[in-house]
Amino acid sequence: MGLSKRRRFAVLRRDGFACRYCGSTVEDGVALHVDHVIARSRGGSDDSENLVTACSDCNLGKSDTSLDDALPPPLDIVAAKEIQRRAQAYNDWLREQERLREAAIDGVIEFWNRKIGWYLPSNCRAMVGAWVDRMAEMEIIQFIRTIFDRQPRFRGYAYRYVNAAIHSHVRERDG
Ligand SMILES: [Zn+2]
Repeated sequence: MGLSKRRRFAVLRRDGFACRYCGSTVEDGVALHVDHVIARSRGGSDDSENLVTACSDCNLGKSDTSLDDALPPPLDIVAAKEIQRRAQAYNDWLREQERLREAAIDGVIEFWNRKIGWYLPSNCRAMVGAWVDRMAEMEIIQFIRTIFDRQPRFRGYAYRYVNAAIHSHVRERDG
């Protein structure tokens, strides 16, 4: 179960819509997430003291800071107006992410219907959404192309095979 939108937003607001580790905001071109300080898998809770705003770089350990370090203290109190401005920028960014995701889903479905043609269930958006959350749109299309080049004599439920193949590919890729 993911965190509720309300809880995520409360943590973002508390942290001034900036990465607690490096101070970056979406206006610096990073993706902001709310993460667990101690991972759920290691017994971390969903309490706000165990939640922190982090950018993708810090989260993936690409930046100099490490999530294993003690949580840094909150940033200096940022003026309410500035927080409001950052909240607006964050919401714009979030909407844009959602728009790009929907466009990627549309792109994959369109490709499927145009080039593949085999039955795709009408409620397939959730399934294709899980694909685009894990792979880039062009990569998915190339992947599907490769499968159908190898297996041109597929029957009706080919999407199930493709779905399983994508998830197993992602599992291997992410180790
Ligand atoms: Zn960061």
